Amino acid sequence: MRYLRSIALSLALALGLTACSGTPADPDTAEEHVQFLAMDTAMTLSVYGERRSAALQAAEHQIQDLEAQLSRTEPDSAVSRLNEAGTLEAGERAEDLLPLLEAAERYCRETGGAFDITVAPVVAAWGFAGGNGYHVPSPAELESLLERVDGTAVKIEGRTVTLSPGQSVDLGGIAKGYAADKLANIFRECETPRAMASLGGNVLAWGNRPDGMPWRVGVQDPARPGDQGSFAGILNLENAFAVTSGGYQRYFEQDGKRYHHIIDPATGYPASSGLTSVTVVAGCAGEQDLPGTMCDALSTTFFVLGEALALDFWSAWTGVPFDLVLITEDGRVVITEGLAESFTLDEGSGYTLEIVS
Ligand code: AMP
Ligand code: MG
Repeated sequence: MRYLRSIALSLALALGLTACSGTPADPDTAEEHVQFLAMDTAMTLSVYGERRSAALQAAEHQIQDLEAQLSRTEPDSAVSRLNEAGTLEAGERAEDLLPLLEAAERYCRETGGAFDITVAPVVAAWGFAGGNGYHVPSPAELESLLERVDGTAVKIEGRTVTLSPGQSVDLGGIAKGYAADKLANIFRECETPRAMASLGGNVLAWGNRPDGMPWRVGVQDPARPGDQGSFAGILNLENAFAVTSGGYQRYFEQDGKRYHHIIDPATGYPASSGLTSVTVVAGCAGEQDLPGTMCDALSTTFFVLGEALALDFWSAWTGVPFDLVLITEDGRVVITEGLAESFTLDEGSGYTLEIVS
């Protein structure tokens, strides 16, 4: 079995992110940045403004804190304690668990179960929860594991969370988007004029670039995952979240077949919907609505559901408005009309562009 892990971020680090420091007299263009590994991915934060050091430190600390709460592999995390005991009183070291579980439950309901954090035992059976190596489960094994999958059965009463017998949760499909929401709050509090956060496929483009232009965010070409810098196109974004899900981000191959990490809860198998990548873009105002969390949940969801249903959701959605970049197996890049001005197809990518209105 061959282990392949693309650390290429689906949304590549913002292009043109140079480590230019402004003069002390010009704090709006003075930058500090940091790169680190957290939540199983490479992260880059680049922050500008008078309080850039404080904001950067708070942002990194926030991500480490979330990882400590939400990791499935760290035995003492809130998620591990919940999965182990089947119940947890969300107190200290679990402050973010309830808002995340509540959001996950809502997206599970709203997506008819295509997004479901209780798919965890199935994700683990395939070996995507870390540790034990990859494995193609038998149909019988999947059938029995799927009996436990029901995100609407997670009970929250007061501050106590209770899972159904045999259930466990995996917040990997939503946690980085939530982390991006928390970073937006920090930047708001620190009056950060501009910042770029790239959290493994979850980008927060805060403000604009020091030269006054929008941030340039590359949408990775899923056909060339090992080749960072191979973009299907570029998004020009200001004050926005952009979150990408794609099977190329994590997968293994066995007997010439590729198996990736986004599971269709209806079948227990890696989703096969005709899409190779989904990017959800939304504005980053609306602190209460957790728009980054929404983008993360929906990008995973639409990768499972496919083009037609993703576009149905886009046109019927009554929550925070969002736009889409869908890349299809048959070589099309489908964008929704809100991105018509901000998305540029890479001419050499070989994809054809369609705009949906
Ligand atoms: P993302 O990269 O945000 O699309 O999330 C993928 C991760 O979410 C996987 O590595 C799993 O941990 C988890 N996951 C896989 N399938 C699903 C699903 N259908 N619903 C919710 N989470 C999922
Ligand atoms: Mg996601």
